[in-house]
Amino acid sequence: MTEAYVTLATTDGYGVGALVLGHSLLSHGTTRQLCILVTPGVSEQVRSALSQVYHNVVLVDVMDSGDSAHLALLERPELGITFTKLHCWTLTQYTKCVFLDADTLALQNTDELFTQPELSAACDVGWPDCFNSGMFVFVPSQETYEQLLDFAKTKGSFDGGDQGLLNSFFPNWHRLSFVYNMVATACYTYLPAFKEFGRNVKLVHFLGSTKPWHGESAAQPGSAYGSFVGAWWTIYRELVRPSMP
Ligand code: UDP
Ligand code: MN
Repeated sequence: MTEAYVTLATTDGYGVGALVLGHSLLSHGTTRQLCILVTPGVSEQVRSALSQVYHNVVLVDVMDSGDSAHLALLERPELGITFTKLHCWTLTQYTKCVFLDADTLALQNTDELFTQPELSAACDVGWPDCFNSGMFVFVPSQETYEQLLDFAKTKGSFDGGDQGLLNSFFPNWHRLSFVYNMVATACYTYLPAFKEFGRNVKLVHFLGSTKPWHGESAAQPGSAYGSFVGAWWTIYRELVRPSMP
């Protein structure tokens, strides 16, 4: 029975995000494996750094895979990264997984997530009847993978990405606490709640167009948001940058 955290990177930027994420999970003493799906868009240099942190670096190339994902992609080219993400269901060497976006950061150990069923996730702040697909518990299965591809091909995604697709496919998802996927901006958009519950946050998500690896300027001590970006940069400076040739 092997369980794993799984993430995804198609570029060096997201690859660096995944390096920081991996270190954050290890620093909080996870007992689970770390696995990452990478595409040929990630450089050799970043892939080699990833293989120092992740137990399993899986190269996924939907473009020349020749399987049903490639065929689905020909019909729905807009779902390129989504189809790459769906590959996580093919990781059947694991009995259960937690998917994490590469723009997330563990602040505490989250291994208790592996006791949750498929599909467990936390609410999306934009539409809380939907789950946010930056963190979800799933069970790898070739059958589910084929069903997901078929669903994507025939029904598409209402938001053009994986979140719309997965919400339509798993309408009876199980709701987890927001502390497992707190959008970083919540610490100022709902300050009183952050003051009350913020100390419980276990995983922070830098959702949106500005990612921590775009620059250190947002890392301002004195604001909670700035301290999350600062925590990301501390790991980057101390553990990631020195490992890059
Ligand atoms: N991703 C990627 N390359 C991209 C876009 C996304 O590898 O060009 C992966 C990465 O793991 C990322 C996830 O897909 O964290 C979801 O995208 P993102 O986090 O940018 O979306 P947001 O959470 O801001 O909605
Ligand atoms: Mn994200």
